[in-house]
Amino acid sequence: MSRARVLVIAGSDSSGGAGIQADLKTVSILGGFGMTAITALTAQNTTGVFGVLPIDPAFVIQQIDVCLSDIGFDAVKTGMLASVPLIEAIADALQRQVTQPVVVDPVMIAKSGAPLLADDAVGAVIRRMVPLATMLTPNLHEAERLTGRTIRTPDQIREAAQALLDLGAKAVVIKAGHRPEFEQDCFTDGRDWLTLPTKRIDTTRTHGTGCIFASAIATGLAQRMPLVDAVNRAKRFIQRAIEQALPFGAGRSPADPIA
Ligand code: PLP
Repeated sequence: MSRARVLVIAGSDSSGGAGIQADLKTVSILGGFGMTAITALTAQNTTGVFGVLPIDPAFVIQQIDVCLSDIGFDAVKTGMLASVPLIEAIADALQRQVTQPVVVDPVMIAKSGAPLLADDAVGAVIRRMVPLATMLTPNLHEAERLTGRTIRTPDQIREAAQALLDLGAKAVVIKAGHRPEFEQDCFTDGRDWLTLPTKRIDTTRTHGTGCIFASAIATGLAQRMPLVDAVNRAKRFIQRAIEQALPFGAGRSPADPIA
């Protein structure tokens, strides 16, 4: 197989900056072959999310099944999962038939403030998705919601990362590099603990950064890179995508994996 195959299970962003659209751009530019199982359509632009249409869980599973039975994949990335029924169905499908690495980006709220996960679904993410994660990529807010902890210091980030390992994730990267009080991400696979320093970029062109980062890691794992190498490449990649982002729209422009 000459191209690493990545299945992305996530939501569509009509503005092209985040979600499935950002995932596919990222997988492609890093040399992988991307497939998609779309969980929800969103009507959004750079100023916000104006509508969300969840896809029927059985149809999401059908998208996964037909890709798996024909093309197959080397890694999976999950993003916006929207609701409890979608999480239950997707976790069942992954548990039943996927042995490849799974990168779980526990998407909850867009940077614009719009909810992308139902309020009652955090428990389902903890119970069903976290234990499936070869790699879990929460931001600080998501790490706080998943662990029930407040994170104010670097020590508390490490404690939260350990708590996420205890919940069943095989490895975790907590994204805090964009916050001036931290300026670093915290990675652990339970054996190694790494702090990944971040050059803080003062910009609002950051729409989709979480999606791009997790997809870049999934592509690396599909390409059989060691986890730490996949994370470091993803880190460099997202930094560049932020630096080279152009101003589109009146709101928060997308980071750009391609420009
Ligand atoms: N829209 C979709 C479909 C997403 O999956 C995500 C993030 O995961 C977003 C929007 C939010 O992007 P951001 O928070 O980077 O603006």
